Amino acid sequence: MKHTAIDIHTHVEFAGTFEILKKRYKEDEIFGKFFVSATGRHSAELNRGIVAGIRDALRDPQKKIRDMDEKKIGIYVLSSTPFAFFYEVEDDLAVELARFQNDQLSEMVKKYPDRFAAMATLPLQVPNEALKELERAIKMLGLRGVEIGSHVGRRELGDEAFWPIYSMLEELGMPIFIHPHHVAGMERLQDFYLSNLIGNPLDTTIAAAQLIFSGVLERYPSLKIILAHGGGQFPYIVGRMEHGYEVRPECKEKIRRSPMTFFKNFYFDIITHNPDALRYLIGIAGSDHVLLGSDYPYDMGDPDPVQTVSQLQGIKEKDRRKIMQENAIALFGLKAS
Ligand SMILES: [Zn+2]
Repeated sequence: MKHTAIDIHTHVEFAGTFEILKKRYKEDEIFGKFFVSATGRHSAELNRGIVAGIRDALRDPQKKIRDMDEKKIGIYVLSSTPFAFFYEVEDDLAVELARFQNDQLSEMVKKYPDRFAAMATLPLQVPNEALKELERAIKMLGLRGVEIGSHVGRRELGDEAFWPIYSMLEELGMPIFIHPHHVAGMERLQDFYLSNLIGNPLDTTIAAAQLIFSGVLERYPSLKIILAHGGGQFPYIVGRMEHGYEVRPECKEKIRRSPMTFFKNFYFDIITHNPDALRYLIGIAGSDHVLLGSDYPYDMGDPDPVQTVSQLQGIKEKDRRKIMQENAIALFGLKAS
């Protein structure tokens, strides 16, 4: 039987990416610069073993398809692992790595057009090159949106350097998937994998606030933003942002309308690991704005997202279908199966 569910949050890694990286960095430098910095040393050491165990799932399309069939999923919308954003490398290398990854993503989609779609990665530390790569990835390679980090080095997502990219995405009608990486407060989040448990949702929340308060969403009102991990704390504190806008002058410096006005620009995956939290999310965002996602193949993901949605009590069947499939078709312009 053909599966209809579409999983919009799944990751892929390419062996060639690290070959390119090794031309510039030694192996232990790569480990420190890209992995220890993101999770702290203890978790990075543990992840070495854990990621070795999911390497096939990250890289091998056949393994992905077997897992999709087992999980009753029709299409994976692929994006690079956040470790491969490479916003911290030199400009020329960043461009080379983004181009390589987007070419590979496109190849995978072309080889298995019924099972994969993909979002591009961009060398955002070089905004003019990122803009060129965005155009190439969408128009030439057929990718269906972009995955970007929750910030780019010291630049927040509200930075005007990125506005031409938002403008082009709005014009193309393609979504932006924001995935947290190199999270805020790392000096306090190194124990207990809190870099991920708390840092990831926190950084997503900062990204959403930046897009609202900087005026990005007022300037580009049709922009569609997908937030990872149920949007982090954002759906829970949007009322606090609204109140802040009412009482604090800082919050009105760049926008004329209140934060809640822009809530409709956001879409959320289902990864909350709690049915009450997921019901709350669907309630506040609406069933048109929640999408099935798993974070495959990482251990912090939802191992069986179809079951999560199928067994969620208190929602209508038509809303289940939207979350499972229809919203993704509309957002990414996919063909219905
Ligand atoms: Zn992820």
